[in-house]
Amino acid sequence: MQHFDYDILLVGGGLVNGLLAWQLKRIKPWLKFLVIERGISFGGRSTWSFHEKDLTPESLNWIRPLVSASWPFYQVVFPEYERQLDSRYYSIRSRKFHEVLFQELSENVRFNTDVLAVSENQVVLKDGNILSAKVVIDGRGKLELEEGACGFQKFFGLEIELNHPHGLKAPILMDATVEQKEGYRFLYCLPWSENRLLIEDTRYSETPEVDSEQFRKEILEYSAEKNWQVREVFYEETGCLPLPLKKQFCLGGRSPESLRETPLTVGMRAGLFHPTTGYSLPMAVQTVDLLLKTHDESSWAQTLEHFSESIYRRQWFFILLNRVMFLSKCPEQRFQFLQHFYRLPIDLIESFYANRLSLFEKARFFLRTPPVPVRAALSALRKELAHELSSE
Ligand SMILES: Cc1cc2nc3c(=O)[nH]c(=O)nc-3n(C[C@H](O)[C@H](O)[C@H](O)COP(=O)(O)OP(=O)(O)OC[C@H]3O[C@@H](n4cnc5c(N)ncnc54)[C@H](O)[C@@H]3O)c2cc1C
Repeated sequence: MQHFDYDILLVGGGLVNGLLAWQLKRIKPWLKFLVIERGISFGGRSTWSFHEKDLTPESLNWIRPLVSASWPFYQVVFPEYERQLDSRYYSIRSRKFHEVLFQELSENVRFNTDVLAVSENQVVLKDGNILSAKVVIDGRGKLELEEGACGFQKFFGLEIELNHPHGLKAPILMDATVEQKEGYRFLYCLPWSENRLLIEDTRYSETPEVDSEQFRKEILEYSAEKNWQVREVFYEETGCLPLPLKKQFCLGGRSPESLRETPLTVGMRAGLFHPTTGYSLPMAVQTVDLLLKTHDESSWAQTLEHFSESIYRRQWFFILLNRVMFLSKCPEQRFQFLQHFYRLPIDLIESFYANRLSLFEKARFFLRTPPVPVRAALSALRKELAHELSSE
């Protein structure tokens, strides 16, 4: 019998591996596992938001201790209209994520530890040490992006304390009445308390670079326009999420045939995120649920393979939408696509976010065609489309 140091090694202590470790400790406490993270905390610096319908009631139940805030509705604001959507919205802040997880997992994590290489049963650390396990899961996040294969959703956020209450009762998911720059631009506001807000400037852009100074300045200008007097800036976060324009880009650039290859990969790195919103929390939760329902860890490869394949089959629709958006001749008109989208019935919007659109709902979506070159996008994807429609 081969000897292993651990049952499971989780490489990267971000969203998905953090959730997996937390649930492993609760549900399978007899397993010997270790999370190896190069940073100093679980989850880094992020705010992960999601819609109630993105998760099953059971999943929502187990993830609830991590939730920092939730609101019964949210708003969107476009040049032509404003809308309140009565659908509960939740946010998890990485500070709380770390605090809750660390309380239970302090014995199961090594921070400040860089991993150089990952293979089926081994992890090579930067200091030269090698650890072994029956199962190794690679959750190192970010993908290396091939040029031209994706557009980007990039953002920069400031958490600010105001001198007076801001007056918001719920999040503004998109305020697109601002000047359009670098493609589609909107401001995103999460009201943590009466006087405290997270404001993010977000752009659906061709380029990944975020000019932090410029974004910071423009967020403060936006606050001033709203008469929100900033007393203090507490925290900032930034990110750039890939929005695939080619189907090969899904599954983290791997082919469906190579899914069986080890090491097992999860989260962003595995392409397990919503191609149009860049959100990955719902799929991270589903991944954890599926792995924990799989009785024997030696079958995790199979579970992940089936899950990835089922996601991959559904991605064509969102890639089509991305192409429609990014092929628009004038990037500054990209906002019209979203302005159109948020006029749709709420059930359709919820299914869209939850990545659960039925074929009928996809058709409903396109019957209200957005004002961008659908035909160009369709022709680029026609082969894949024919194949996917026949398999749905
Ligand atoms: C600021 C921000 C806001 C976001 N907001 C949302 C949102 O509202 N809703 C949503 O669903 N999604 C959101 N996302 C997108 C998505 O949820 C995140 O990208 C998510 O964190 C991806 O999860 P993951 O576990 O795959 O990777 P990550 O959470 O990025 O975790 C990867 C971890 O691996 C570690 N790591 C990397 N390389 C090594 C190495 N060599 N050795 C050791 N450790 C390593 C990293 O330090 C990191 O902690 C946001 C992303 C960002 C950046």
